[in-house]
Amino acid sequence: MPLVPLLPLFHCFNREHFDGALVVGKKTLVPVRWSDGKLRKTAGVYRRGRGVAGDYGCEIVLSQPLLEHLPLSATKSTLCHEMIHAWIDLVLKKKEVHGANFRARMSAINSAQNKFQVTLRHSFPVPISVPKWWAMCPNCGLRFPYKRIVRKVACRKCCETYSSGMWDSKFLLAFEPAASNS
Ligand SMILES: [Zn+2]
Ligand SMILES: [Zn+2]
Repeated sequence: MPLVPLLPLFHCFNREHFDGALVVGKKTLVPVRWSDGKLRKTAGVYRRGRGVAGDYGCEIVLSQPLLEHLPLSATKSTLCHEMIHAWIDLVLKKKEVHGANFRARMSAINSAQNKFQVTLRHSFPVPISVPKWWAMCPNCGLRFPYKRIVRKVACRKCCETYSSGMWDSKFLLAFEPAASNS
């Protein structure tokens, strides 16, 4: 399956499954793009924070190497999965990975149509590799990939912003296992 343009799909899903909340005016709340061949370990990612999209921006990136040989439904499923993450973060403004809001929206989307299914993990093969863990800051909601659990690690940005750069237990990162799709 050659790569399809993602923006029309994004607009379509936004209307059908997110009540239009991910577009304001004509502008999407989050840019969406194909990876330039780099994203090889995971089918897609939603990220916001340091070094993203011009620094402290956000974006959805889908893996060209993993998805280009799979049916279009894999691309749709991955895009929708990452749009749910963006919706929780940017619209609901909740600090959540695959929690109650995620699961509720996922089942609503899955029961509304039968062209593709959104899953917590992707059913198509993705090499098992990094990241094994996501560490989330309870204060700002930024997520960081980790290969293993690191004890007592705190969000650097929040420590810098709110604790004059001193380590503060208020900003301890919470670790969650990463599914093959993040
Ligand atoms: Zn933080
Ligand atoms: Zn996810």
